[in-house]
Amino acid sequence: MDKPLFCDSTGHSTAKLKKTRGLYYNLFVAKGEKILFRTHTCGDITAGDIGREVTLAGWVHRRRDHGGLIFVDLRDREGLVQVVFNPEVSPTAHRAADSVRNEHVLKVSGTVSRRPPGTENPKLKSGEIEVIATDCVILSSSKNPPFYINEETEVDENLRLKYRYLDLRRQRMKENIILRHRVIKFLRDFLDERGFVEIETPILIKSTPEGARDFLVPSRIHAGKFYALPQSPQQLKQLLMVAGFEKYFQVARCFRDEDLRADRQPEFTQLDMEMSFVDEDDVLDLLEEMFTSLVETVKPSKRVIKPFPRLSYEHAMQSYGTDKPDIRFGLEFRDLSDIAADSGFAVFRDAVRNGGKVKGICAPGCAGYSKRQLEELTELSKEHGAKGLATLALVEESGGLGVDTGTSFVARFLSQEQIREMAARFGATGGELLLIVAGDPDTVNRSLGQLRAEMGRRLGLVDPDLLAFCFILDYPLLEWNEEGKRWEPMHHPFTAPREEDIPLLDTAPEKVKARHYDIVCNGCELSSGSIRIHNRALQERIFRLLGYSQDEAERRFGQLLEALEYGAPPHGGIAPGIDRLVMLLAGEENIREVIPFPKTQSAYDPLFDAPSEVSDEQLAELNLSVRRKS
Ligand code: ASP
Repeated sequence: MDKPLFCDSTGHSTAKLKKTRGLYYNLFVAKGEKILFRTHTCGDITAGDIGREVTLAGWVHRRRDHGGLIFVDLRDREGLVQVVFNPEVSPTAHRAADSVRNEHVLKVSGTVSRRPPGTENPKLKSGEIEVIATDCVILSSSKNPPFYINEETEVDENLRLKYRYLDLRRQRMKENIILRHRVIKFLRDFLDERGFVEIETPILIKSTPEGARDFLVPSRIHAGKFYALPQSPQQLKQLLMVAGFEKYFQVARCFRDEDLRADRQPEFTQLDMEMSFVDEDDVLDLLEEMFTSLVETVKPSKRVIKPFPRLSYEHAMQSYGTDKPDIRFGLEFRDLSDIAADSGFAVFRDAVRNGGKVKGICAPGCAGYSKRQLEELTELSKEHGAKGLATLALVEESGGLGVDTGTSFVARFLSQEQIREMAARFGATGGELLLIVAGDPDTVNRSLGQLRAEMGRRLGLVDPDLLAFCFILDYPLLEWNEEGKRWEPMHHPFTAPREEDIPLLDTAPEKVKARHYDIVCNGCELSSGSIRIHNRALQERIFRLLGYSQDEAERRFGQLLEALEYGAPPHGGIAPGIDRLVMLLAGEENIREVIPFPKTQSAYDPLFDAPSEVSDEQLAELNLSVRRKS
């Protein structure tokens, strides 16, 4: 068998280097002579280059042997080009091509030619042309990859992550990672143009709580002591405001040890921002401008709703049952508790009597739903905690609105009047299906929220090209933790209460509203932010309310409390999650698809096999001992 041709000093000499469009000076020195790896990229060559001599380097994407002629789709980061190996043009190049397999790395020289009529590929930028090879060098060979690189097939995620470097070669992943680069580049430029300074903050630091567990790092030098990885750079950016930087940002890595979901990772990236001398509107206006121009620049195929709607927390909870509403479509909830309380249906009455709610949504045109379809919806509501689902199929009758009693089981417990009142809450006129859930408010909101999302999908109300950003405002400052019997911050302990509510802190903390805002897109929380407390006395008062003793507050937050005594300017900020943002822009449903090297759902890295055990010597150096499972 002929030996494959590996790269040697037979490449073009430097004298042949000519600056042309897309010329790449990727050179290395071998045996004292410089080798030109490529004159063009594969994605770069078009019909305009016909007749040109080119040299390309890339991976074998696909190889087809057509008895005599060998066709190789050569791939590099920029795209694909078809290379034809004809034994009559170059027997040596043909011999090399005969031995290559998918994912081998080649350097190919040849002439750009028009493809024979009828063989063009309109899907490829280079689809009108092919390169007739005159020379071929195999730069590197490849084992058979564990999954197809050249096809978008479903592959087990563990396998994808174990071979992430191969997974990232696939078109979709490559596009996602390049999109991520564009997004970050845009954000950096946008903020730089507006006077923001990018400042790095430490990763080895002390606990900066954002409501999750800390990752700890043992100190070798300070035996028995630990650093905590930042859950966010929150206190640091506030200190930078005290330091007078006025406008700060950072593409910041944050670490939170919490149970993972599709949109969570133990380490993730935020666009962390903080500004001095601003109020809520200044921050929100800047975000609106930033996200609008981001979408227009990096994903012009997507639309945003302008201006971004601003909803109160109260309104979001009432109408969507969540403070992360997907406002790409309506189907808002209506509260029917007052009507249901007087009905003959014990489930409704009991729910209201026990402090719960009866709420519904109205699905237009769905009155004809079959029993099986209704059962599917009932199942869905039960999966999310509801005890059951009541449905009313509204039909137009001669005397006004009525119900289809065949499918509307609950109708027999309601008067005509009550049914009409319920229908009127939604402005229904006939043909609609009312989906009603009763129970404690959290369960009602959760299960009705799922029904709303499902009906939005079924009715085709979700515009895939819409990025529906909105702001949620007027949050309560605190929420009661029943288990721990204590107040917890809705956001974090540094959020300022509304000035006029400060007197309520001692008398009715539940009524205090915060200067806190969230930004949400398509039902996904991108970030919480707030105007911060900037004086020590108020910050200490909040810590007291949250149950910190004077000592503990001093121990954990002494650095910030002290800084607040040295001329802290009024300030506020936010930290939009970059992973989630890119996920939405890429149209993905999982942030792992836009993170180059993510962890699995169980916080494991199959590529590096991390976390992993360490040696006894390392443990001894750190003054640690590990209780090994027997
Ligand atoms: N540090 C906050 C967070 O991570 C964001 C902010 O308040 O700016 O949610």
